[in-house]
Amino acid sequence: MTLISDHFTELKNKAVICCRFYVPLMLTMCFIMPTVVPWYYWGESIWNAYFVCACLRYILILNATWLVNSAAHMWGNRPYDRHISPAENLIVSWSAVGEGFHNYHHTFPNDYSTSEFGWKVNLTTLFIDFMASIGQVYDRKRPSTDTIKKRQLRTGDGTHTFGMFGCKQSCEENADEQKVQ
Ligand SMILES: [Zn+2]
Repeated sequence: MTLISDHFTELKNKAVICCRFYVPLMLTMCFIMPTVVPWYYWGESIWNAYFVCACLRYILILNATWLVNSAAHMWGNRPYDRHISPAENLIVSWSAVGEGFHNYHHTFPNDYSTSEFGWKVNLTTLFIDFMASIGQVYDRKRPSTDTIKKRQLRTGDGTHTFGMFGCKQSCEENADEQKVQ
């Protein structure tokens, strides 16, 4: 009981730090840096830097993120659960840095990687694994390959491809390699 309450206290403290510095961090990283860096270092006009490097980039990233809950809930195959709307959509995976393996994510929501394919079109997993390698992330959860296969046979739509590129065998090998100890 003490361990659980300690854990929540730690999480709460971290959340407080994030909330307290959210606005200055967001303004600095999202608008100030993308405007100042091109203007200062390679002579871009300040307005070009602001509208293109800050605003346009922000708009594109927001729309790419929103594709996860729109396009990836409509278009793609459903290898893990054919009864739900989320689908595997490689274009969304590419634009949202790994979030488009959405049928998998909704079927196995406790998998930190949101995909059985590891680092393929999934820079988010690469980043989390890097942070784990330097001790900043721990206790990554993944279902076993056996669990994934059984679920596919039980509720999947019969497809098992990596986005629009069919690679059944290599994907299964990759899933075996990506098991986290
Ligand atoms: Zn979803």
